[in-house]
Amino acid sequence: MRNRPLLLLTLVLPLLMVVFLFKLGSKPEATDYPEAAWEPALQSNFSESNREANGLKVRWIIIHVVEGDAQAALNWFKDPRAKASSHYIVGYDGMVYQMVKEKDIAWHAGNWAYNEHSIGIEHAGYADRKIFTEEEYKASAKLVAYLLKKYNVSLQHPEGLAPADPTQGSGVIGHNQVPDPSDPSVGGGKSHHYDPGVNWDWKHFMELVKQYYEEQSTG
Ligand SMILES: [Zn+2]
Repeated sequence: MRNRPLLLLTLVLPLLMVVFLFKLGSKPEATDYPEAAWEPALQSNFSESNREANGLKVRWIIIHVVEGDAQAALNWFKDPRAKASSHYIVGYDGMVYQMVKEKDIAWHAGNWAYNEHSIGIEHAGYADRKIFTEEEYKASAKLVAYLLKKYNVSLQHPEGLAPADPTQGSGVIGHNQVPDPSDPSVGGGKSHHYDPGVNWDWKHFMELVKQYYEEQSTG
């Protein structure tokens, strides 16, 4: 009994040291994409999942436009009224923010099956304005190249509406190309959104994606 304080010291002290060192070594919160800043969406704006483990493969990267700047999207996806989110946000300045983990299902496509099988990227800007910056195109293209490689998504931007069943294809598409789940002949998901709009320069964007993709291949 007289040894009790000593026992406490020899047992508890090392344990405290381990806990302390562990805390010291752990990062605040890691993003999937190393170049992104972590800005978590509100938990009621997305579905926690473990997609790949549950057989839900990422087949599509879906390009969106905020109708505002990056901050507007960051604020909205933290707002309980939104009932929406996307995995990533890209700003005019090329800053990339991650709001939902890639393993989780963000609510962005207006089509549940597409939400399950895609990663959504919001871009600062307006679908009706030629406002996208080169920094924004480059930062997004680099992110898309990383995602294509990681999930083995096709390096292509197919024209027209994507297939009703998202597992029947793969590539980089606009929100406007996501079929309405109740009428697959209409695009933009259930609310018929038309972002990114005619001002989004797909040709330039996909050239940049290809460049970054090849750079990443050669290491
Ligand atoms: Zn959209």
